[in-house]
Amino acid sequence: MPGIHIINAHFASPNEVSDFDRKTFEQFLKIITKNAKIISLEKATQMIIDKQTSSGKVFVALTFDDGFEECHSVIAPLLEKYECKGAFFINANFIDSTTEYQNEFNKRVKIFTKKPMSWEQVKDLHNRGHLIGSHNLDHLNMADLNEDELEFQLKENKKILENRLDYNCNYFAWTYGQMQHFSEKALQITNQYHDFVYSGTNYKKYFSMNNKVINRRQIEPFWSKKHINYFLSINKVY
Ligand SMILES: [Zn+2]
Repeated sequence: MPGIHIINAHFASPNEVSDFDRKTFEQFLKIITKNAKIISLEKATQMIIDKQTSSGKVFVALTFDDGFEECHSVIAPLLEKYECKGAFFINANFIDSTTEYQNEFNKRVKIFTKKPMSWEQVKDLHNRGHLIGSHNLDHLNMADLNEDELEFQLKENKKILENRLDYNCNYFAWTYGQMQHFSEKALQITNQYHDFVYSGTNYKKYFSMNNKVINRRQIEPFWSKKHINYFLSINKVY
């Protein structure tokens, strides 16, 4: 259906990425580009805010959370092959972290074997025109945090990303993405640091939380293509 859809994915494969997974990811891009035009998250966001949805076209923006190494080695090169830009939501403490930290992080996101990108790789994505957004410092569940902890997770992650990349970090996607993981208070504090906030739910509507949150829909590239076709068939509303 005509409209602007934002996909939220994490990786090319839940396991170590094989040639088969690379092909599957490319197939995912082919299915989307057959039905839709892939645009940057910045552009999709602006179009949604401006309510520019009446052109009769299907637009898709692709976002990837958590900053796993394959964002740089697999996903970005294939996006570029199709002349697309992605948005990558990063937890700064995961980048270049110790094995011990990575094991704890992987437990929090329920993954067993994934390594993070290095700072060189994050910088390289940024320099190649992909968007680097914040996903909080340690991938904590923001519903479990008090105000001081929320403040710290948001402020510190933004500060590290901005120092490393020399830019303004205006885009934020909260961890775990459902409404029960994010409160009004969390939104209030987030808005002090970031202009644009994304969920991972309520995808039939463009906005949540009084038009202050833009909704994404989780689709992993290796899921069956009926998911993507179903997702793109939704008539999104304001
Ligand atoms: Zn995440």
